[in-house]
Amino acid sequence: MRYAIISDIHSNFIALEQVLERIHSEKCDQIICLGDIVGYGPFPNECIELVKMKSDIVIAGNHDHAAAGLLETDHFNIYAKKAIEWTITALTEENKKYLQTLPLYEYTNDAFFVHSTPMIPERWGYILTPHQAKLNFDYFDQQICFIGHSHLPVIFSYNSKREPEMIYDPELKFDNNMKYIINVGSVGQPRDHSSQAAFGIYDTEKKSYKILRVSYDVYTIQKAMMSLDFPEFLIERLKYGR
Ligand code: ZN
Repeated sequence: MRYAIISDIHSNFIALEQVLERIHSEKCDQIICLGDIVGYGPFPNECIELVKMKSDIVIAGNHDHAAAGLLETDHFNIYAKKAIEWTITALTEENKKYLQTLPLYEYTNDAFFVHSTPMIPERWGYILTPHQAKLNFDYFDQQICFIGHSHLPVIFSYNSKREPEMIYDPELKFDNNMKYIINVGSVGQPRDHSSQAAFGIYDTEKKSYKILRVSYDVYTIQKAMMSLDFPEFLIERLKYGR
């Protein structure tokens, strides 16, 4: 099985289309979406409809829950809050209902899928350090847990001595004696100083994982955001991947 794993699309339809094109050429069997389909960007309905059509599993993110009225935006920064307020007005009733039905996590024999953390998905915490990863490794039975949320592609490994390690390699062969937490990065708003959309491919036969980067027309999405009067900061950050 070859899984394409995408996350944090954030209503960036231009980036999503490019990523799906690349996934098609990579001959993946299934597409898993780890949530935050909406928020920050100008095309929430288009992104929901395309993700719904193309994905085998879709998980809820905190922005999806906020847009669906399931989460208060008190903990959101001012820009995220503004974008969610606009998203709520833009979403169709059907798409809002769809966001409400998304699960907080899913799993197969091969992997566990969640937006934030396997420990407490609904608390929307982050896994940014080996220590934070260590707290989470006991909360899934599969060898690998895929996450999104931080928009930073990174891998944490965990050996039998319960020592976590942070790995930045773009490609990895899995060691049968290790567990892994893998952040696949963000399709629609990368924050690792690259403007290119990020996603991951997990091959269960080859026991391998790789992170892929795809260029897209950033200016087209920026123009759409400008025409809707989105905050300057949200428009500018896409160019710099921050
Ligand atoms: Zn996000």
